[in-house]
Amino acid sequence: MYNSQTAITYLKGVGPSRADLLKKELRIRTVSDLLNFFPNRYIDRTQFFKINQLQQNTAEIQIVGKVTSLKTVQQKRGSRLVATFVDDTGTMELIWFRGVKWIKDSIKINTPYVIFGKTNSFNNSFSMPHPEMELVNDYKKSLRTVMQPVYPSTEMLTNKGVSNRVIQKMMQSLFEELNANFVETLSEEIIVKHSLISKSDALFNIHFPKSQELLTKAQFRLKYEELFFIQLRLIRKKLIRKSKIKGYPFDKVGDYFNTFYKNHLPFELTNAQKRVLKEIRKDVASNAQMNRLLQGDVGSGKTIVALLSMLISLDNGFQAAIMAPTEILATQHYNSIKELLNGLDINVKLLTGSVKAKDRRVIHEALEDGSLHILIGTHALIEDKVKFKNLGLAIIDEQHRFGVEQRSKLWKKNDLPPHILVMTATPIPRTLAMSVYGDLDISVIDELPPGRKEIATAHRYDSNRLSVFKFMKEEIAKGRQVYVVYPLIQESEKMDYKDLMDGYESISREFPMPKYQISIVHGKMKPADKEFEMNRFLKGETQIMVATTVIEVGVNIPNASVMVIESAERFGLSQLHQLRGRVGRGADQSYCVLMTSFKLSADAKIRLETMVTTSDGFEIADVDLKLRGPGNIMGKQQSGVLNLKIADIVRDGDILTKARATAFDTLQSDPSLQNVENSNIHRAYQKLNKNGEIWSNIS
Ligand code: ADP
Ligand code: MG
Repeated sequence: MYNSQTAITYLKGVGPSRADLLKKELRIRTVSDLLNFFPNRYIDRTQFFKINQLQQNTAEIQIVGKVTSLKTVQQKRGSRLVATFVDDTGTMELIWFRGVKWIKDSIKINTPYVIFGKTNSFNNSFSMPHPEMELVNDYKKSLRTVMQPVYPSTEMLTNKGVSNRVIQKMMQSLFEELNANFVETLSEEIIVKHSLISKSDALFNIHFPKSQELLTKAQFRLKYEELFFIQLRLIRKKLIRKSKIKGYPFDKVGDYFNTFYKNHLPFELTNAQKRVLKEIRKDVASNAQMNRLLQGDVGSGKTIVALLSMLISLDNGFQAAIMAPTEILATQHYNSIKELLNGLDINVKLLTGSVKAKDRRVIHEALEDGSLHILIGTHALIEDKVKFKNLGLAIIDEQHRFGVEQRSKLWKKNDLPPHILVMTATPIPRTLAMSVYGDLDISVIDELPPGRKEIATAHRYDSNRLSVFKFMKEEIAKGRQVYVVYPLIQESEKMDYKDLMDGYESISREFPMPKYQISIVHGKMKPADKEFEMNRFLKGETQIMVATTVIEVGVNIPNASVMVIESAERFGLSQLHQLRGRVGRGADQSYCVLMTSFKLSADAKIRLETMVTTSDGFEIADVDLKLRGPGNIMGKQQSGVLNLKIADIVRDGDILTKARATAFDTLQSDPSLQNVENSNIHRAYQKLNKNGEIWSNIS
């Protein structure tokens, strides 16, 4: 008897070498793997053509007819086999270049065949190279339906004769063995609510669709199921964390917060900032540890939200910290928070790699005796020597650069973990966020502070450089500052460095001293030198900042209003968006110029066009997701959640939303899936956790 983990070698027609090939090429090892190896497209085989109806086109078609004669034609290398194929309307040729001998021996002359493939035409006579052929008698008998599945394949499989037909036949014998009967994985309630077809019907129709309608239903059902169980797992994790991982309850809002809010808040919060702050307050007031992702486009005002959250921590007798990925960013956070807290009796310090040992000791001591309220810094914050008296809230800026492991180091300093707020300026499309961060709570600042001017963005070819220089001069004459950014891509670091230096030289020629002053910042410089140059630019001593992408994230210099991006075609969309976000921070009209060569790939054109037409970070993120796919955006470590068999995060957002809501409701009413109604789900869920996959449900 078969079970889901039975090796496919037990299947009719699968010998050891074929099994080996399937394992290597398609990672199909067990019966369950095969069953859940889904076609990636279908061919409509409802229509038959007659030879006299053939026209020049590239579609795959099928014809019924007979081979009347075969001949082998010698050619330069080897030989080709040519068959004359006729039906009651005409004659055509079938041609083979490979496997000639074997095919010649196996073809039956004057016997009806269904042939299938693409046709070529020459002087009004048609031929079909390497047709798929099946005797009409077999064709009628086979478990085949109008929609023909086409399975993903590899070159190796094709070369070794494991064609689509072969896979179809294996699938057919598998279904015969199993009587096409599979255990249901969803509850009656869910099936009814979403009008799903049964698991058995879905599996049958995904491989052997009886109609277009049933195929659609099968796809929907299986996508739904796949997304449902992923969401079930994520939400369960979240609920368990909320009930098990205790946090310090910050039950009051006190003097620090209130005084700041009343007397020091430099502007009215946007509605989005208020909403997000409420969400954070609710989290930290409960007994559970907060684990919240705060998304907000560049310039949406995350800093003030971070500060207000830290003040709540202080009001409850706890310390707070911000950890940033680079020294420049940490320094900038420190400066803006220092400024916001001006006149308040709150002790804030900056800790980075370049803080001197003596100053470090002072910080360590103040941290341990609790007289230091807020610590801002880089990775230096998670060194062993750094011991908080009582860290209540840790804010992590830019989640992409910190691993979970590093994050949890912060926890080890307390008896209870601090509340965690992860801030990111990289908008993550909603569906992707649900899948990758489905176990976190998510807040979104989806509104920019009032009065922001849209950044005027233009695409210019390198050949128009002179007019771009002229424009830069005009803006500098108005007192503005300009960034000129060069790409920095690891593989060709040397070349990038050369590009940067060449660019720097040509800009120095065009913008001569002493009228113009130029700063340069790149990855090869020492942190202190970088800092020095950044500061010159910040203070307005230089008008142009030539840089590699080290300035990408977070840098805030309001007077800089022009961003020129060199070789813009080499940047990804989210990077371009981040870079553009460096300008448009002051009251003046800002500009972004994307410089490229003439040679542009199709994707590069879409990226540039997107940048020119929109400034909405979420819209840009959506395009990026479509261009690059979820795996590339979120990185390899997320492939578990993103390696989907049938659903598509980009296209199946609606199904995902439904599945997530249902998974949530299910766990709300039955947290450990013990109710009888949920026994199907429970069984499937246990298998998922045991086998690491959700597709192993055979009776
Ligand atoms: P980001 O989300 O990119 O970190 P910041 O917190 O640096 O954004 O805020 C960007 C700019 O907008 C800052 O100069 C900040 O003072 C200003 N700002 C933030 N919130 C508001 C608001 N509600 N009204 C007006 N200006 C604001
Ligand atoms: Mg910021």
